[in-house]
Amino acid sequence: MKSEKAYPQDLHIHTTYSHGDSSVAAEQTVDLVAAIAHAEIMGISDHFEFVATDAFTAYENDLRRNGMKVGVEVDGHAWVGDAASSPVDYYIFHCRDHREDYRSVDILLQTGKPVIIAHPNALATRLERLPPECLIEINNRYVWRNDWYAFYQPFIECFRFVISSDAHQPNWLGQSAARYAARILGVTEHLVFPEVQG
Ligand SMILES: [Zn+2]
Ligand SMILES: [Zn+2]
Repeated sequence: MKSEKAYPQDLHIHTTYSHGDSSVAAEQTVDLVAAIAHAEIMGISDHFEFVATDAFTAYENDLRRNGMKVGVEVDGHAWVGDAASSPVDYYIFHCRDHREDYRSVDILLQTGKPVIIAHPNALATRLERLPPECLIEINNRYVWRNDWYAFYQPFIECFRFVISSDAHQPNWLGQSAARYAARILGVTEHLVFPEVQG
């Protein structure tokens, strides 16, 4: 059945659970994102440091109740130990060009859950240092900010790619710039949770 929704998936979305991120609008609640429903499969990936604490159960329940996947965005190696033992469905990972961050990618992959490398062109992640099991993000918020073609093109045969909004506000729930880049690169989007795809 053909979906009416604009995009097949969006697994990089922030909500007011990222309370310490000043880019998140107060109106960007889980309920509003669920109601806008711009993508068939939606996953929320709030910053792990803000949901790792007492808030995690409420976060998880809120997402499950809305039929959303439960993700977290993990900011480098400092958070990986705790993140690896959290009951999430997938990870979005900030991999800066440090040995500890590349090692952390392996730790997350060992959980068997999908690991999406967040906006690598904005963090100078060296894709040649990542194992092919990683999913590489083409991120609507950041992809256009530098020479994305030169950055991604050498690796289009090496990885599977995921297109995301990285929305912090309701009007960011879109993927136009990322989809433009993917089209020029000739990338076919990888669907991370095909079992729930309509
Ligand atoms: Zn990020
Ligand atoms: Zn993000």
